[in-house]
Amino acid sequence: MESKKHHVPTRSVGTSGSTNLKTETFFHWEDGLKLTKAGLAVDFRRRQPRAFISHAHSDHIGRHEYALCTPETAALYQLRLGPRTTRHLPYREPLEWRGLRLTTYPAGHCLGSAMLLAEDGDESLLYTGDFKLGESATAERAELPHADILVIESTYGTPAYRLPPRGETIEKFLALVRQTLENESTPVILTYALGKSQEVTKILTSSGIGVVQHRTVFDVSEVYERCGMSLGGFELFEGRVEPGKALVVPPGMGHLDKIGCQTRFAVTGWAIEPSAKYRLRVDHAIPLSDHADYDELLEAVKIVHPRVVYCTHGPESFVERVRDIGFDAHPLGRPSQGRLF
Ligand SMILES: [Zn+2]
Repeated sequence: MESKKHHVPTRSVGTSGSTNLKTETFFHWEDGLKLTKAGLAVDFRRRQPRAFISHAHSDHIGRHEYALCTPETAALYQLRLGPRTTRHLPYREPLEWRGLRLTTYPAGHCLGSAMLLAEDGDESLLYTGDFKLGESATAERAELPHADILVIESTYGTPAYRLPPRGETIEKFLALVRQTLENESTPVILTYALGKSQEVTKILTSSGIGVVQHRTVFDVSEVYERCGMSLGGFELFEGRVEPGKALVVPPGMGHLDKIGCQTRFAVTGWAIEPSAKYRLRVDHAIPLSDHADYDELLEAVKIVHPRVVYCTHGPESFVERVRDIGFDAHPLGRPSQGRLF
């Protein structure tokens, strides 16, 4: 099988500016990250014999034969893809597995989202998956252990992706929702079914605003509740929304003529773009994100303080920036297109 592997040649840049080539043996790239010794595929969409799933968003899961993940991710993964064979990796509980010591840490992205620390003797690798450093209403706050090799998800690695303070954003959002209700209009909130919808629900219910959820959102919310993450008073949307309540629906399912007068909100990190509300065809675009922004990505690199950084899904300019702050950094895989939500 050796011939199928693509060991990752990297260029180390010393302080003198001289370069020397070395090869990583901890992992290799097969259209995705694989931990070589254990044969463990990380966040693959293609079916794999053995996979780690960092969280249950659709671009991180596949119909694997055997999946390692947190118990919360296992519940959400099976909601999405039906019964699957999983092995639970609760946060901070190391597992010796096929020659590696594997430990998950909270990633702060959505329920069950995890970073993976893989250790082989005295060498270690941290894979972040999607993460966020700051506070979340519905995800455990991220923890970043030290590692020698850091593989960091850097989709939002541009200075344009700097979010305003979270507290300010939430205050503005709640004020707009209250104003909408006072105007006898229904707030229709468009946001991802898994993660952001539950966070928005918790923010609203914690402020005394009842929430009605589209079926897709509701099913995920029930898993959150079963896992002990209470979301407050929410109910299933069955065609109408009582006055005083807000409706939460996934993007693309917001054509709800029956509910009459409505004011539409999009809750997404991409709302920081000035044209977002026109592109998304909403009345208000709210920049609440479950991803680390540019500054948080750089902060994460400094906290982990690795020997080498590999940046996935992000722009080349972010790799340059990581080098500027003193780390050996390289791109890994192909950049992905930014999503609207
Ligand atoms: Zn995600």
